[in-house]
Amino acid sequence: GGAEKSPIIRPINKSAVHKICAGQVILDLSSAVKELVENSLDAGATSVEISLKDYGQESFQVIDNGSGISPHNFKVLALKHHTSKLLDFPDLQSLKTYGFRGEALSSLCALGDLTVETRTVNEVVATHLTYDHMGLLTAERKTARQVGTTITVKKLFSNLPVRSKEFRRNIRKEYGKLISLLNAYALIAKGVRLVCSNTTGKNVRSVVLKTQGSESLKENIIMVFGMSTFSCLDPVRLSISDDYLVEGFVSKPGNGSGRNIGDRQFFFVNGRPVDMPKVGKLVNELYRGANSRQYPIAIMNFSVPTRTYDVNVTPDKRKLFFFDENYILQSLREALEKIYSSSQASYSVNKID
Ligand code: ADP
Ligand code: MG
Repeated sequence: GGAEKSPIIRPINKSAVHKICAGQVILDLSSAVKELVENSLDAGATSVEISLKDYGQESFQVIDNGSGISPHNFKVLALKHHTSKLLDFPDLQSLKTYGFRGEALSSLCALGDLTVETRTVNEVVATHLTYDHMGLLTAERKTARQVGTTITVKKLFSNLPVRSKEFRRNIRKEYGKLISLLNAYALIAKGVRLVCSNTTGKNVRSVVLKTQGSESLKENIIMVFGMSTFSCLDPVRLSISDDYLVEGFVSKPGNGSGRNIGDRQFFFVNGRPVDMPKVGKLVNELYRGANSRQYPIAIMNFSVPTRTYDVNVTPDKRKLFFFDENYILQSLREALEKIYSSSQASYSVNKID
């Protein structure tokens, strides 16, 4: 004998499960704000304003002029896996929106205090909504607002003691990561005015990022990084086949300026900011042949058919499975080799297979 009595298997209580899962979707300040910005872009906003209090520790708020939320959705808005964007699994193959899992608002409710102010064109007044940690609507009142939505999250992570402590300890780093991420959206979101400001305890508001809703990547780069940085870039335009196109900018051979590896390198797939470690590695490797002292700036958007990749890999959707990655990498290598091995200032290639 000696075997212990087998323990009883029990379900974890609902609110604990909710917190556990939410903590995987919302990892840190930047993933929290990112979800709100993506919702605004999905709602067709042409103006997105991000306001932080105390670098996001006290609160963060995203104000947009998008579609607004209809009253019939108020009750289900922040419930887990409730979305207006994806109805069935096959839709994942043709997804054009940033969101699709209906997890962001529900997770933010679990990890902070969430309120919403919203109005669609069909309403004459806006509504202010308060949700509890389970995503249930707890209060509702009328308020004044233009068409669009404002979502405010206060005290993020206050109910996850370890993460809350980490958050406060690393606030400068968290904030830096957020600004870099917002830069990515500011660069790629065409026709969207994006502003980010931070207000500190002494009520000093500083604007940390501002674009003007330009339609071109070039103009956005100039707004985000300045003209002198832009003038150090070469355009890249690579059309691999009819439905594969890579467009963007990379540092000129003599003018790298990222101080750290990966600093100011932004990759997008169909306008979605993603991590592309293999592309980053390739760009750095080829650049090293031309300039061994610096890292290049690289800003590239890969336009590819939505059926050729899967973004449903990690909760933050920054990683993706790319079916034709090697094919794309090889073509990109050839194009970059031409930029970095010749003295030509700019280069573009058209390769049709
Ligand atoms: P998802 O984006 O995956 O659908 P979210 O939890 O982020 O899930 O949002 C849930 C739903 O709330 C969205 O599908 C959308 O209908 C609505 N929503 C959220 N934010 C906004 C916004 N800023 N403007 C309009 N609708 C919004
Ligand atoms: Mg979303």
